[in-house]
Amino acid sequence: MEVTVNNIRKEFERFPALNDVSLKIASGELIALLGPSGSGKTTLLRLIAGLDFPTAGQILFGDEDASHHSVQDRNVGFVFQHYALFRHMTVADNIGFGLKVRPSATRPAKAEIRRRVSELLDMVQLSGLEKRYPNQLSGGQRQRVALARAMAIEPRILLLDEPFGALDAKVRKELRRWLREFHDRTGHTTVFVTHDQEEALELADRVVVMSQGKIEQVGSADDVYDRPQSPFVFSFIGESSHLPVSVKEGTVLFQGEPIGISEAGQGEGDLFFRPEDVALVDEKDALCGKVTASRRLAGTRIAEIDIANDGHAPYHVEVEVPLHAAVELGSEVRFRPTRWKVFAK
Ligand code: ATP
Repeated sequence: MEVTVNNIRKEFERFPALNDVSLKIASGELIALLGPSGSGKTTLLRLIAGLDFPTAGQILFGDEDASHHSVQDRNVGFVFQHYALFRHMTVADNIGFGLKVRPSATRPAKAEIRRRVSELLDMVQLSGLEKRYPNQLSGGQRQRVALARAMAIEPRILLLDEPFGALDAKVRKELRRWLREFHDRTGHTTVFVTHDQEEALELADRVVVMSQGKIEQVGSADDVYDRPQSPFVFSFIGESSHLPVSVKEGTVLFQGEPIGISEAGQGEGDLFFRPEDVALVDEKDALCGKVTASRRLAGTRIAEIDIANDGHAPYHVEVEVPLHAAVELGSEVRFRPTRWKVFAK
């Protein structure tokens, strides 16, 4: 089911939790809402679900304006961070719950519910555990039951709010891979909220990066990592450093001196680059700073470099260097970004 969010505004006591948000989600897409705490991810998910209603703007399911439809009328599946399974019900009863409580006109017969539950158990790879109670399952298994329960009503769209947030790192990683496979098998339009960028980049077809109630950028993992469109996205995703620069006649100047890179445009800006997109050089027109620390990652090394700032606190940047490069603490190094972006001020 295609979902269109048109110019949504959501206020809580005049505080704008969402401010003019528009987004088109294609049928069958797996979308991540990614952003820091308070950026409006959960609010947007709840509005799509129909758990809350917008102050202004529209939400369309296909061509139908669903902005003011209830959760039931929208027929969405919802999974929260804390598995809200019914503790006194078995796995099978939990999964079948949404079908059993339907009005009699649309309620499937008992045998049909049993068949559907068994199919769903298979789908979430929990066959054999149908008679267990939630407290006899691991955290990862409980989240898969929650997902099967959300799927049982054949939702038009699946909405997941930090579904793996409460699980430990290893189970999280397993479930991530599992969810991607599950999505590819079932092809449900799925929107999930996360503040874990690795999770968003690994899982989603497209990532929606949010900040302060607005969408900063929408794109594939490659788009948001390699082609960030704003200083916020550049800093929020991955590692980066930035320095104030000016651009004159195609040359980038730092502290008034050329640093060996060129850029279209003119005027003051901020130069952003990632630690892995930097080369150590011998030439004079380059950035120059003192190594203050270095730390080893698995296959490489990050050097922390201070650049003097005329009596003020030095600029601090991080640069990836070969594992055995001669970067001694306290030594001066010259370097240049090999990929970068200048955002005008
Ligand atoms: P987190 O990652 O911490 O869950 P989030 O990105 O999901 O954050 P939201 O929960 O959508 O953020 O909240 C967005 C903003 O709206 C926050 O400033 C929050 O305090 C505010 N907000 C959310 N729900 C309400 C509410 N019911 N009443 C008042 N303010 C609210």
